Amino acid sequence: MSQPIQGKDFYDSVLQFYDQAASFSRLDPGILAQIKACNSIYKVNFPVEVEGKIQVFEGIRVQHSHHKLPSKGGIRYSVHVDEDEVKALATLMTFKCALVDVPFGGAKGGVKINPRTSSVETLERVTRRYASELIKKNLIGPGTDVPAPDYGTGSREMAWIADTYLTFKYGDTSALGCVTGKPVGQGGIRGRTEATGLGVFYGLRELFADGEMLQKIGLSGGLTGKRVIVQGLGNVGYHAAHFLQKDGALITGIAEREGGIYHADGLDVEAVVRHRTDSGSLLNYPGAKNVTETADLLEYECDVLLPAALENQIHEGNAARIKAKVIAEGANGPVTRAAEKILLERGIVILPDLYLNAGGVTVSYFEWLKNLSNVRFGRMGKRAEEASLQRLVNTIEQSTGKSISPQERALIVHGTDEIDLV
Ligand code: GLU
Repeated sequence: MSQPIQGKDFYDSVLQFYDQAASFSRLDPGILAQIKACNSIYKVNFPVEVEGKIQVFEGIRVQHSHHKLPSKGGIRYSVHVDEDEVKALATLMTFKCALVDVPFGGAKGGVKINPRTSSVETLERVTRRYASELIKKNLIGPGTDVPAPDYGTGSREMAWIADTYLTFKYGDTSALGCVTGKPVGQGGIRGRTEATGLGVFYGLRELFADGEMLQKIGLSGGLTGKRVIVQGLGNVGYHAAHFLQKDGALITGIAEREGGIYHADGLDVEAVVRHRTDSGSLLNYPGAKNVTETADLLEYECDVLLPAALENQIHEGNAARIKAKVIAEGANGPVTRAAEKILLERGIVILPDLYLNAGGVTVSYFEWLKNLSNVRFGRMGKRAEEASLQRLVNTIEQSTGKSISPQERALIVHGTDEIDLV
């Protein structure tokens, strides 16, 4: 079978994973059908002026589950965005949040746009208009649905969304909690940028601390000296590679859109980033071998293969040729259901996305709590903090309609922005 390229294949694969998991559940089939379905799908076409001409853009927001509010999930900017892709990503968010016990439903959004070839001005106009469309339909807000960065977006886009939302909600003191992944100076939280990659690193570190598990796949010891191939040098891939290298792993291969590079003794991640920024490409990095097809690098010999870009990268067509002993799902849905079967039969260990890349939404939760409590914890004395605790908790409880657990209370008292997340 050839490589799946469409959102439909991705969504089908996610539904197959769901059906398999659901077959172990004793829940009523009707309830299982409700858990599976996307609760709300919103598609909107909106006009934006680009270099003097009107262009129509397509935006989507899918709220997969309202079982806990708000729903939560990133916004993707890519020319490949389609309804099925966003449905698949929103569905994964529900289970990701449940797995790490972050009290959100799952959601995801997307705009069909190429962020690399669009000017900053166009991106700002499109982002603000898309945010306005969501506001118009009550599809964004601290208690309803809270977007975050995803592939093709970052803290800059989140700041535009927050600013647009605040314009409409003047006087709402928890309004900054309408979106997470904002710059630290605009209501964000330290550690959010690196959180997903750091979570990937922690997940791998735990695996490599489990001697019994490693023995099964013919490996031993910790991460030191382990050969890692990373696909994607974006926020997730870069930070994961950075922390892995710092802990002694060898980043032997790095792949991006333009192709990949390989060096058996390991690449210097920071130097590769500088080379790509200066030359506009990963290729021709001094001393490394060029791999012209990105997909070919996935099939190179290594201990850990870390797909950290897009879905459907390891599929029925290439699963049998993967030589890694461990696949670490930094991206959402990089391994299809059909490929997973082949890989597991071959004894390859897969660390699933729901677990491995949940660091992002976990720290988003801290950011959201901080925004709702509307307090700059680090500047307050101990007594003042304690005296305000009850008020903060009340604010959060009112905004969310939920009561706050003792753990969350402790988190608010100690202040999440004082945690050294690195
Ligand atoms: N886009 C990220 C993810 O797929 C982050 C979601 C969030 O922080 O809401 O997990």
